[in-house]
Formats: sequence, structure tokens, C-alpha cells
Amino acid sequence: MAATPSVAIIGGGYAGMAAAVELAARNVPVTVFEAAPSLGGRARRVTVNDTALDNGLHILIGAYRETLRLIEKVAPPRTQPSDLLLRLPLDLNVHGKLRLRAPRLPAPLHLAWALLTAQGLTSADKRAASRFMQAMKARRWRLGADRSVATLLAEHTQPVVLIEYFWSPLCVAALNTPADRASAQVFLNVLRDSLGGARADSDLLLARCDLTALFPKPAADYVRARGGTVEAGATVDSVTRGNHQFTLHVQGSKRSFDQVICAVSPHRTAPLLSGIAELAPVRAQIEALTYEPIHSVWLQFDGRVKLPAPMIGLAGSPAQWLFDREAICGQRGLIGAVISASEEHVGEAQDALAQRVAADIAKNFGPLPPLKWHRVIAEKRATFSCAPGLARPAPRTPCPDFILAGDYVASDYPATIEGAVRSGVAAAAMIAA
Ligand SMILES: Cc1cc2nc3c(=O)[nH]c(=O)nc-3n(C[C@H](O)[C@H](O)[C@H](O)COP(=O)(O)OP(=O)(O)OC[C@H]3O[C@@H](n4cnc5c(N)ncnc54)[C@H](O)[C@@H]3O)c2cc1C
Repeated sequence: MAATPSVAIIGGGYAGMAAAVELAARNVPVTVFEAAPSLGGRARRVTVNDTALDNGLHILIGAYRETLRLIEKVAPPRTQPSDLLLRLPLDLNVHGKLRLRAPRLPAPLHLAWALLTAQGLTSADKRAASRFMQAMKARRWRLGADRSVATLLAEHTQPVVLIEYFWSPLCVAALNTPADRASAQVFLNVLRDSLGGARADSDLLLARCDLTALFPKPAADYVRARGGTVEAGATVDSVTRGNHQFTLHVQGSKRSFDQVICAVSPHRTAPLLSGIAELAPVRAQIEALTYEPIHSVWLQFDGRVKLPAPMIGLAGSPAQWLFDREAICGQRGLIGAVISASEEHVGEAQDALAQRVAADIAKNFGPLPPLKWHRVIAEKRATFSCAPGLARPAPRTPCPDFILAGDYVASDYPATIEGAVRSGVAAAAMIAA
């Protein structure tokens, strides 16, 4: 009987851990190497002053089918989905500017009702939004040639207010790329699966625990329970290929494997490919990617702060969305603010940015208790820039048995948790096949 091939997974983010779980479920022994001390990558726990934060505030949606399936698969027994995720019907609430709430009605009535009752939009705006959705649905959410989201919206004569408070925030939240530079096709893919899908697909899901505890940590427990290994704090410095196996150079030691899934963020993938000549074209393709930053501002107040909703948008502030962590997961006085596509804030003094966001919250929602501490986490390469027609590397490389996974790998999704998880699942299926 042939021995089961050994599989290494480089990277313990959502993509790597999704691949590991899928392989462990098929009794394939895997070894995960994660450079950081904790798992999760760009969706991970960060502890500040004994408070569990995340490196970035994340929104999941009901359409994240693979993510939700795997979260459920690895969750400890008797865990209910509602213990892990707060599920809210779609409620786009940009304070004082726009409110669009989808009731619990079957699709597409939920959307029709949401548009009909939306506050902050004129009847003409509502008709324009509805016309746009119908036109995109009629063409099955496919464009002949890709273009920017701004161009597509202009072609469909979307009114300024609708663009400013609805389409643009949606585009930046989903693609982390401003509408004038974002791929309209990828935006339509997201609309197809969320607003254009079943009612529950457009639900917003907010984690009630930190992002390491949500999936990567229980995933590691699941993998270990099935004979796999997950090594945190283990950086793979380089990979070389011999006649039959790959050698991973892991902090001074050499480890050999038959197959490799490389599930590392793109800018750290490119150097790992340099030891294998056939991978040069893939490396060049990855090196051509550009990135968009995201800033997350955490404000811990010395007392209760109650926002009108667990998640609420702000207009005219650097903070696009605020998250009330007491309402979401019981963290009293803790507010998180997200600034996507935040290029203009790179280099800004973090103290000034945090104070500015705190002042904007007070201006919009009334006086606040004193600020105890704040933390700004700037992820300079949060996601790849999702430009029109972007060529993303395929999971299969010219080197058989060396497979790429991660949110940047070719798919119809932008850089998201679901994109990462789907690519991990697909990579595992390729290995298993
Ligand atoms: C601030 C922020 C906010 C976001 N908001 C959202 C959101 O609201 N909704 C959403 O769906 N998505 C969001 N995203 C995107 C989402 O987090 C990513 O798409 C997803 O986490 C990517 O997962 P990944 O596994 O592909 O890559 P990563 O998470 O980057 O994982 C790669 C892993 O590889 C490890 N690694 C790197 N080099 C090595 C090496 N040499 N050896 C071993 N290990 C290595 C890294 O430490 C990391 O853990 C956000 C991202 C950020 C940064």
C-alpha cells in the first residue's frame, strides 16, 4: 500500500487553517507552519491592556457559506452559531444620512422593501438603485469587459447621493478599494451573492469572540485531534525542491514534504517562491500586486458608551464604521472604528487620529466618558488593490504539488475571509485528488 503523502501548509491564517481542516477531515496528515505566535494572520486576536481586540474589525455576511460551514465544523460541542456570531438583518445605517433596513422577508422582497422604506434617499434615488440592481441581475451579474465601479455607476446614471452614501461605502467595505479604482466585476460578484441572493445571505455577522477564537484556534484543535501538527512561531525561511520532495527551511531545521500548500499573504509569498525556478512567473505575477491599507482605531472609555446600533456608519469622519463592542460581545466602553482604503492616514500620528475619531463620536452621539486608552492598528497591506481586470495567480502552479491558497489567489471574490477560506478548501481538494 502506498504511504499517505505528507503535506505542509505554510501559513496559519484563515486560508491555511481551512485547508488544514479539510485535509484532516480526510485523514491526511498535515503540518501547519505559522510564523506568528498566534494563528489567524490578517484576522487575528491582539491583546492590549488585558483586553482581547482584533488586528482589524471584520464584518462577515450570511453569504460566507464556506466560512460558516467550517466555523461550525470545528466549534466545540454544544456551541450554537449565535454564541460565536451576532447575526443582524442587513441594516446600512450611515448616521443622519442613510438608513436601509432589510426586513425578514423572502428575497427579493427584503431588498425591495429595504429600498422602498430607505431613509435619506429620494424616490428618484430609490428608483435608480432598483433599476441598477435589476439591470445587473438581467445580465446575470456579468460585464463583458471589466471597468471601475465608478464608471459602471455613471453608465447607469446613479445619483450622487446614492453613490456617496450607498454604493461607495458598500464598495470600499467589500473590496477595500475606492470606487474609482475598484473592479466593477468583483463588486457585482459580491452584490450577486449578498443583496442579490437569499434574504439570509445579506445578513451581517459580527464576531462575538476574537477572530483567532472564532476559527483558527478551534481549527488547530480539530487538526491536532486528527493527528495533524500545527506549529506556531515557526517561520518558513525558504522552500527548495529535490527529486521527489520539497524541503522547507524552518528556522535552521530542514523538513521534507511531498506536497505543499503555500497559504501566506501575497507579499510574503513571493520571496518563498525564489528557491524553485519553475515558480518564477508566478512570483512575478504576485510581485505585480499592489495593496490597500486599513486602519482600525480602538477606543476604551472609562464607562459605558452606547451607540444607536452595534454597527453604525459615520459620514464626514475618517471612521467609516463604528462597532459597539459592548452590544456585540459585552466589552464595556470599548468602541472599534474602521477606516478602509485608508491611504491618506498612513503616516498620520496615531494619537491624533484616535482623538479625532473620539471627537467625531462625541459630536454625533453626545458626551463620552473619559478615554482610558486607545490603540490604532495600521495594516499597510491589508488587502490587494482590487483593480479592474486584475490578473490573480492560479492556485495550481507550474510546479506540481506546490499549490497556492489565500485571499489573493484567482477567484471571483475580493480579499475577504470567505475568499481565503474558499481558496483553502479548493487547495485541500486539489491535494486530496
Ligand atoms: C484590518 C483588516 C480588516 C479586514 N476586514 C475584513 C472584513 O470586514 N471582512 C472580510 O471578509 N475580510 C476582511 N479583511 C480581509 C481578511 O482579513 C483577509 O482576506 C484574510 O484574513 C486573509 O487570509 P489568508 O489566510 O489568505 O492570509 P493571512 O491572513 O495573511 O494569513 C497568512 C499567514 O501566513 C503567515 N506567514 C507569513 N509568512 C510566513 C512564513 N514565511 N512562514 C510561516 N508562516 C508565514 C502569516 O503570519 C499569516 O498568519 C480585513 C483585513 C484586514 C487586515
